[in-house]
Amino acid sequence: MENIKESDSMHYEGNCIRPPSEAQSILLQVTLGCSHNKCAFCGTYDDKRFSIKDDKIILSDILFASKYMKRQDRVFLMDGDALIIPQKRLMWILDQLKEHLPWVRRVGSYANTKSIKMKTPEELEQLKKNGLGILYLGVETGDDELREKIHKGSTAQTCIEMGKKVRAAGIKLSVTVLLGVAGRKGSLEHARATGRLLTAMNPNYVGALTLMLVPGTPLNEEFRKGDFRIPDEQGFLLELREMINHTNLTRGLFFSNHASNYLPIKARLPKGKQEALDTIDAALRGEIGLKPEWMRGL
Ligand code: SF4
Repeated sequence: MENIKESDSMHYEGNCIRPPSEAQSILLQVTLGCSHNKCAFCGTYDDKRFSIKDDKIILSDILFASKYMKRQDRVFLMDGDALIIPQKRLMWILDQLKEHLPWVRRVGSYANTKSIKMKTPEELEQLKKNGLGILYLGVETGDDELREKIHKGSTAQTCIEMGKKVRAAGIKLSVTVLLGVAGRKGSLEHARATGRLLTAMNPNYVGALTLMLVPGTPLNEEFRKGDFRIPDEQGFLLELREMINHTNLTRGLFFSNHASNYLPIKARLPKGKQEALDTIDAALRGEIGLKPEWMRGL
């Protein structure tokens, strides 16, 4: 590609998000939006139609980062689902990162079951060899009925298989689960089914988020009509407790440190499980203060 120079800033378009653990990373926007874009609770990319950004723009941003981001040794590929980029092009992006940002130690991206399914095990291994170190997968729930209702687009079993496929390629797997997404009625069943899914999938990291209704989303509409009731603070804590209680990882971290959560937990499983449950119990008894509503965010 000829004559590409860095411009005077990165080319970010629209609403951009990244996982909490990528806060210090170089944020490189290689796609716009999410290739799925149907989840009933999610309004993150409503402003964008999914597309892969132009190679020239991507390279220009990498060159900008090579000049001004020398202290950041991780790259996070935005937006919602960079793994869906065809293999040759994704390998090219990773090549450019290696060439121009040789100090970068890890590249991460969001993924969904569809994009993982589209890669062969060999392709995932190639990506791993070329620097892709971690994938973030939004699992939300292990309850199949609920998965259908919120339009996740795959079953719990597919989710488990795709998670295992990522791990088999040597890529770290971080999954997010969504407290409150079942509403009040299905709360504990959602927690148990999600714990079972996590146990079968055995990811390296689990990040629990707490539902915050986003105007314009189908779930918010249900709420407005009175068909969906959000658990109260105690309900959220009981759901988190039930989920952790049903999650058995051989070795992994369970976090609830996202800005949306009422109670930050960081449990190294399996050893730290009891301590996490004790902390939640103390919060349930009112001995630990919860994050006030105004401090929560997405
Ligand atoms: S939750 Fe994730 S997969 Fe679902 S629409 Fe939002 S970005 Fe896409």
